[in-house]
Amino acid sequence: MTPGRGWRLPFRLLGIPISLDPTFGLVLPLFAWLIANQVGAFATILEPVGIVLDADVLTRGVTPYVLGLIAALGLFASVVVHELGHAMAARIYGVRTKMITLWFLGGVAQLEDMPRARGAEAVVAIVGPIVSGALSFAFAGVLRVFDLHGGAAFVIAYLALMNAGLAIFNLLPALPLDGGRVLRSLLAIPMDRERATVIAGNVSRAVAILLGVYGIFSFQLFLVIIAFFVFNAGRAEVYAERARQAFEGRSVADVMTVDPVTVDLDMPLAQFRQLRSFKPHPCYPVVDAAGVLAGLARIDDAEKADPDATLATILREADTARPGEDLQRAVQRLAGGDLGRLVVIDPKGRVIGILSRTDVVRVLRHENAAP
Ligand SMILES: [Zn+2]
Repeated sequence: MTPGRGWRLPFRLLGIPISLDPTFGLVLPLFAWLIANQVGAFATILEPVGIVLDADVLTRGVTPYVLGLIAALGLFASVVVHELGHAMAARIYGVRTKMITLWFLGGVAQLEDMPRARGAEAVVAIVGPIVSGALSFAFAGVLRVFDLHGGAAFVIAYLALMNAGLAIFNLLPALPLDGGRVLRSLLAIPMDRERATVIAGNVSRAVAILLGVYGIFSFQLFLVIIAFFVFNAGRAEVYAERARQAFEGRSVADVMTVDPVTVDLDMPLAQFRQLRSFKPHPCYPVVDAAGVLAGLARIDDAEKADPDATLATILREADTARPGEDLQRAVQRLAGGDLGRLVVIDPKGRVIGILSRTDVVRVLRHENAAP
């Protein structure tokens, strides 16, 4: 799953774009159906607290499915509000949110960076469950004040209960849930962040196992899927933290390959193809007569094109970096690009280096080999 590759809603909330992952398209009807099947049971649960739903009417014909769909949409809207809470808290620390994505396990607010101040991650994380808790109280309040009945009462009561559930579930001390982030951030106050992440990762795995076992014995498949996801995510967080440490304080110039082979814009493709025989690279920076970067050329593209043509005909736009750029930011762009390299240029646009995925892997290997 890659957040952000889905369908974008035609509006922004608090300036943040909202995107629906393809998996969301599956989960919305599934949730609507699951909720529809619970309408009757829900009515029985609510009776003792004085909320009377006419179960006979609500479970007739297509009514439960309509209610299920409305409740599911309300649930996902609640998740978006939860994520907006994280985004607003991050904004206090000057960190922007690229996008909020809904997918089959809920929502993700993609922050451009995690605020570095000690304890800041805990603040950003805790706001989500607080918002969900507040929503739960608000829905419960609406139910009491307006003395609702029938379908409206069902939807509002369902949202009150589910938001309470969201708040509690997200407080589980497991990465990448909010509770796990709070735990990691608090641990990182007395100790270094890598050690804090390793401990939080171990706690996450223990929580995931308990959750999975509970899910199996209570026949709740969804819990088992979440447990599996949490178990893997804990390990991914540890790797991500190690990478962050390896890149910390380094610039592109520290890691790039200097003086890379460049090719001229007017080189015939027949000649360019011959590079394949003695150089291992899949693509090369192309420069004009003044040595200024014109783009990138791939050997594979040259194989398919007319051999008498020049490189200018197969030119692709190059992603560039400056030597003084923060390595972590450059690596994020490298991961997002499809050619697997950034061309490092000086202020006049002349090529002075290449930052490839191989360069990055070399840094990580070196870092992990260190005691
Ligand atoms: Zn959250």
